[in-house]
Amino acid sequence: MSRYMSARFDGLEAYVPGEQPQDMQYVKLNTNESPFPPSPQVLEAVNAAQTARLNLYPDPEGKVLRARLAAMYEVKPENVFLANGSDELLSFAFMAFCDEERPVAFPNISYGFYPVYASLYQVPSTEIPLKEDFSLDPGDYCGLNQNIVIANPNAPTGRAISVADIEEIVRTNPDHVVLIDEAYIDFGGESCLPLIRKYDNLLVCQTFSKFRSLAGGRLGFALASPGLIADLDKIKYSTNSYNINRLTMAAAIATLDSNDYYVENGKKIQENRAWTTAELAKLGFETLPSLTNFIFTRCPQVEGGTFYQRLKSKGVLVRHWNKPEIADWCRVTIGTREQMEFFLDKVREILKEAG
Ligand SMILES: *Cc1c(COP(=O)(O)O)cnc(C)c1O
Repeated sequence: MSRYMSARFDGLEAYVPGEQPQDMQYVKLNTNESPFPPSPQVLEAVNAAQTARLNLYPDPEGKVLRARLAAMYEVKPENVFLANGSDELLSFAFMAFCDEERPVAFPNISYGFYPVYASLYQVPSTEIPLKEDFSLDPGDYCGLNQNIVIANPNAPTGRAISVADIEEIVRTNPDHVVLIDEAYIDFGGESCLPLIRKYDNLLVCQTFSKFRSLAGGRLGFALASPGLIADLDKIKYSTNSYNINRLTMAAAIATLDSNDYYVENGKKIQENRAWTTAELAKLGFETLPSLTNFIFTRCPQVEGGTFYQRLKSKGVLVRHWNKPEIADWCRVTIGTREQMEFFLDKVREILKEAG
């Protein structure tokens, strides 16, 4: 920190994103991107004609894209909010809904950005422990009388709770916002989105970064009652009114035009997930059940940090956290079959070397 930075950020520990090596020499299974490129329609949409219009600001309301998302999810455009990645959406939500009087609770093992935003906006936060098997007890959140943020399915565990459990949490906290981060919902989970018609305190967040192969385009969106969307709009128009750039808007619309392509890719990921989990089981690994495009797994012989390092030295990047509760575990993104075969070859080598 320079001597010019505000002292209110003294205690702030910034989020540390997964490694993004620019030399591309690794099999990259560390940040849950899709291994598949965007659809041919997306490549076509982000064309010279679009680029030639970059001298003009994009539509601040993102009308076309919001209408398309609304149609797809059978809601109204007033129920849709667009953000520059769901990270921005989370940032806006913490800013809009949380403060000293309206603290926030989230699981102790979940997406690492939640505590960072709580700290950034100086919001008191409670980290509620997951159970021993990394499952979440919905009872811990019922009638909590705080804002609540839950990733469902959760990251980095991959475990999910039911829509009925979410409804109970939303119903019993009517005076607070319940944010359900559905970044991984399209890999086999059930979305709680239909509940936004019934509950005006439910905020559902999704992203184009995982299932829709658009992590580099930065697009997230929220689905909620018009009241919550208007609150987010107020923050957006006070921060960055043109938060979605022209090329991303065009890419996203073309993404929705080619939905079948992404559904097919999602099926492949689910097949590769089942196959990888079974192969790891043969090698003695313990893997949590996952409804996402990653698995959380524990090597029988090698401690998590060492396992991560050994894989990295062999050209495979996975994610590991130096947090005591999960230090034995690594999160492995599910890639193509070829990538998972390469990963498993390296795992077998590591086990052999460990004796
Ligand atoms: C990846 C991820 C995000 C961020 O997604 P972006 O849209 O790329 O910002 C948010 N929440 C969870 C749980 C994630 O895993």
